[in-house]
Amino acid sequence: MTVMNKIEGAGFAPASRISAIGVSEILAIGARAQAMKREGKPVIILGAGEPDFDTPDHVKQAASDAMQRGETKYTALDGTPALKAAIRDKFQRENGLSYELDEITVATGAKQVLFNAMMATLNPGDEVIIPTPYWTSYSDIVEIAEGRPVLIACDAEAGFRLTAEQLEQAITPKTRWVMLNSPSNPSGAAYSAEHYRPLLDVLLRHPHVWLLVDDMYEHIVYDGFDFVTPAALEPRLKDRTLTVNGVSKAYAMTGWRIGYAGGPKALIKAMAVVQSQSTSCPSSVSQAAAVAALSGPQGFIAERRDSFKARRDLVVAALNEIDGIDCRVPEGAFYTFASCAGMIGRITPSGERIASDRDFTNYLLREALVAVVPGSAFGLSPYFRISYATSQAELQEALSRIAAACAKLGA
Ligand code: PMP
Repeated sequence: MTVMNKIEGAGFAPASRISAIGVSEILAIGARAQAMKREGKPVIILGAGEPDFDTPDHVKQAASDAMQRGETKYTALDGTPALKAAIRDKFQRENGLSYELDEITVATGAKQVLFNAMMATLNPGDEVIIPTPYWTSYSDIVEIAEGRPVLIACDAEAGFRLTAEQLEQAITPKTRWVMLNSPSNPSGAAYSAEHYRPLLDVLLRHPHVWLLVDDMYEHIVYDGFDFVTPAALEPRLKDRTLTVNGVSKAYAMTGWRIGYAGGPKALIKAMAVVQSQSTSCPSSVSQAAAVAALSGPQGFIAERRDSFKARRDLVVAALNEIDGIDCRVPEGAFYTFASCAGMIGRITPSGERIASDRDFTNYLLREALVAVVPGSAFGLSPYFRISYATSQAELQEALSRIAAACAKLGA
């Protein structure tokens, strides 16, 4: 989906496996905004999907201690016993899920967990059902693994959630996986037990279909939302569910690159085969840090959540003040995914017509010096994503610039 920078070069042609895939559009927009910043323009970047908080000190200390102890060598292939034990305890404590150590895998970010899972399971042409809007890497990873993403539009009216009818209709004999992400990047929408139930009932009727759930934003939920994960909700699906999670978002550890998953033993083993021939193991020091994150004090997560909630409320209210923008209140994560349908067809001060969400976000970057990501990058238009993982002062400034730029658009 993210065909931005087609790879070209004299005498060079990329493998067909990646020829339709480009560098992530989110990264491309970030790079453009950074270049404008270097030219001295006061650009505000609301594009990045990472918390602005720092990694907690006790986690950094654990990494430092591990280095001093000499834990600087290759580790066990798909996770140290200590980290796997911490993950097993986390799944039990927070999700009511019992996994044995050999049902747990650790990789270099949840992104690599997804990559390992697709590489280990997809044959050419196998289908993976992905509700849109989706995190941009889902479809690209499926394509690199030579599978076929089957994208299903789930718009704001549907709460950005897949329905049982849509799922039932999308399943074919070639369906291998369904990927669900709650709370979602980019929509912030989350599935409650009531939302999951009908989908899980459909899956119970189709035993050849496996379920990949991405719980990365589990701790970032608001207004008392009760987070649940499908393998706990429906134990009959546990032996064909991969429950993916990681420390990047909850513990502000994006750069440490540790993700993990629980799933059936045979799948976990197949994923380790992929990992053994790509990275050998995740970073030893980062794994020690992740043990401290998962086993140490958890209180700061709630404090950060409260801070994210205040920002969410600020952004949603400011967006809904703007004529032509409509923002649903997200249940979690740190993104808003607002409709800009009302902006399509409007005319910029220099006489250009806004024909798409990409035109709109390009206009915002030029006119308001605010970088946001068009819905097209996530497979659903016309919307745009704001990442509100930044200070309230910066958000306020960005939103007032966006409002001023929108007011300049003519009918
Ligand atoms: N899943 C979702 C929904 C995400 O937003 C991200 C990061 N943007 C990831 C997985 C990957 O996280 P990481 O590789 O840092 O663990």
